[in-house]
Amino acid sequence: MNIQANDYEVKSIRKITLLSIIPVLLAVSLVSCKSRLQEKPEDELWKKALKICKNNIILDSHNDWPHRHFLFPGDISKKWARSDFDLPRAKKGGLNAVLSVVFASSSLGVEEGRGRIDSLIRIISYYTKTYPDKFAPALNPDDIKNNYKNNLLSLPLCLENGTPIGDDLGYLEYLKNQGIVYITISYDKANQISDSSYDTIRKWDGLSPFGLEVIKEMNRLGIMIDISHSTDSAVFQTLQHSKAPIIASHSSCRHFTPGYERNISDTLIKVIEDKNGVVMINFGSFCLDSVCVKNCNYLFDWYDSTGISMHSEEGIDFTLKYKETHKINSDAKTVADHIEHVIKLAGIDHVGMGSDYNGMGLSHPSDLPDVSGYPVLVFELLKRGYTEEDINKILSENFLRVWNNVIEVADSLNKSSSI
Ligand SMILES: [Zn+2]
Repeated sequence: MNIQANDYEVKSIRKITLLSIIPVLLAVSLVSCKSRLQEKPEDELWKKALKICKNNIILDSHNDWPHRHFLFPGDISKKWARSDFDLPRAKKGGLNAVLSVVFASSSLGVEEGRGRIDSLIRIISYYTKTYPDKFAPALNPDDIKNNYKNNLLSLPLCLENGTPIGDDLGYLEYLKNQGIVYITISYDKANQISDSSYDTIRKWDGLSPFGLEVIKEMNRLGIMIDISHSTDSAVFQTLQHSKAPIIASHSSCRHFTPGYERNISDTLIKVIEDKNGVVMINFGSFCLDSVCVKNCNYLFDWYDSTGISMHSEEGIDFTLKYKETHKINSDAKTVADHIEHVIKLAGIDHVGMGSDYNGMGLSHPSDLPDVSGYPVLVFELLKRGYTEEDINKILSENFLRVWNNVIEVADSLNKSSSI
């Protein structure tokens, strides 16, 4: 009985002790919750996102504005509603460097393709020459950093589709001299260099013999190799033969879009990491989730079969009508999911942003409609616990590191060949 009495006492003491501690514990946890909320409520995080975007270089590795400008002339120095990119919105989003795509459609072939390349380069250089206080060319990462310090928006050039190279390796040197810093070796059809993920015909089972020469020459010239439209076999062979790291300038993760070869597989993400390269995530919803992939591909097929541009009034009307009943817009959270997936597989040093603005029609993520939206993505990354240092790598440092590395490899190749 005594024991029971003792037990009762002990239990009572415990009960009293617990009862007296619970409010204290509750108060402590409420205070700590409150202080955590006070430390990082959403508006604080949003302010932090804006600050990060203002104080760090933001580089976007793929924007098709020159092609949009070619089709529907506008003015990127002021608000230009028809484009996803212009200077006022770039400033709002904190964007500092825009890899400006010189796009040569496969149907143009070699001669016409070269003409188009010259026309688009003229459009880009018009801005750097006419507004030297606003825009500047950039041939290397140092130019990007200096332009940033001088409050200038960098407009480095890149070529999408190697078709106009023809069978002439010498043309690569011409492109280099024009300021082209990377080349997407293929586009929607197998060309003389590489198979394309969009093409059912696998002409080369990867790279062609000439493609191997192109890789070698791009290494020598210090032009980055972009495999964003290539097949898996072509990417493997490029990784095998390139002496420099490679980039995927505007691709997302196949993990979220099974069977869609346009996106990069987990295995390839790891091999790109092994070679110190970088995967730049495409914001186009046609790369972000399987439903959007299916619906956007229906639209792309419709544009192709009718010959109606996605940027024309008729193309836009058709898209808007289709959009009423079919999902074609993902969101910033999904873009962040893709970024995180690369980080999980390859670490923080191998991912960046290659939005594909002006090349995605109306398939923008609903909360990332144009180049003013980078803070929205940074906010999402902050919410997931990434630090400013991590985010800075995603915003530009990873791409700039790879670019520097490609230039270093070229320097060492040229040194060893001159000995
Ligand atoms: Zn593309």
